Amino acid sequence: MQRIDAHTHLMGDHPRVVALLEELDLKVLNIGVVDSAHGPWREHLKTYRTLADEHPDRFAWVTTFEPPDFNDPHYAERVIEALDRDFAAGAVGCKIWKHVGMELKKPDGSYLLPDDAVFDPIYAHLEKVGQPLLMHIAEPLACWQPLKDGVPHCDYYRRNPHWHMYTRPEAPSHAALMAARDRVVERHAKLRVIGAHLGSLEYSLQAMADRFERYSNFAVDTAGRLWDLMYHYDADSLRAFFTRYQDRLLWGTDLVRFKPYSQYSDEQREDDFGHVRRLYATEYDFYGVKGATRRFERDVEHLALPGDVLRKLFVDNARAWYPGL
Ligand SMILES: [Zn+2]
Repeated sequence: MQRIDAHTHLMGDHPRVVALLEELDLKVLNIGVVDSAHGPWREHLKTYRTLADEHPDRFAWVTTFEPPDFNDPHYAERVIEALDRDFAAGAVGCKIWKHVGMELKKPDGSYLLPDDAVFDPIYAHLEKVGQPLLMHIAEPLACWQPLKDGVPHCDYYRRNPHWHMYTRPEAPSHAALMAARDRVVERHAKLRVIGAHLGSLEYSLQAMADRFERYSNFAVDTAGRLWDLMYHYDADSLRAFFTRYQDRLLWGTDLVRFKPYSQYSDEQREDDFGHVRRLYATEYDFYGVKGATRRFERDVEHLALPGDVLRKLFVDNARAWYPGL
């Protein structure tokens, strides 16, 4: 079964990367991100596009768009034009990133929220042309809590204090951001919305289930949240959840390689491939193979999901929610 990793940032511009994806029997969906810390996002998109053009069986891509310019009355029009160019060039969806809600501000000094009217024409356009919207809104709940050793993401916020919202009480709460995203999903009922990273609802299966029940146009990807699943839940609860919502969960890893592989030495690249192979083995095993993984100082039981559920998680749901794939 060729699996689709529905959430990567893989600058795989080296023939050995294609060989690795063949070995792993994998197609990856590269997601554009507008983040200055990650480098020039338009350059990344160009690489993602070239990879998809050259190896459509191994790569696909999702475009994104620049933050609002409140001085430009034609902002939405410009974005829509650029998105349409990217869709014509093969992009299979559009991403909005967490700086909306957590970092960007409006001219009046308030935080820009994802349901702001400035985005509405863009969402309406995506809805009209049938392109899905990947929403990375907010962060894990741990982002709004004091750092605690051993809790998933603690190290990330230690290294990136700028994103640790616990230290910024003036910023929107986690609940406020979830409510703003819910309003987008609700207002645009024909827009397919995929909540990245378990929709930032990793802390509660019930919170995810509530959205799935309320909104038939909402799904989530699992990108970068394997440890959260292992940390928060037992295998029985997860198995029941993944079975019940088998049409709403897209598998993704959030494999991040912003440095192009063409710039690695042969040794660096092969060394890195070792990490990549281990990451995918851990993911495949957890969802698909009976057994246990040692994590959080205990043996975490694998889900070993039934074949039809696994197929949806690894393949079919990505195609259903990103129809261009
Ligand atoms: Zn990502």
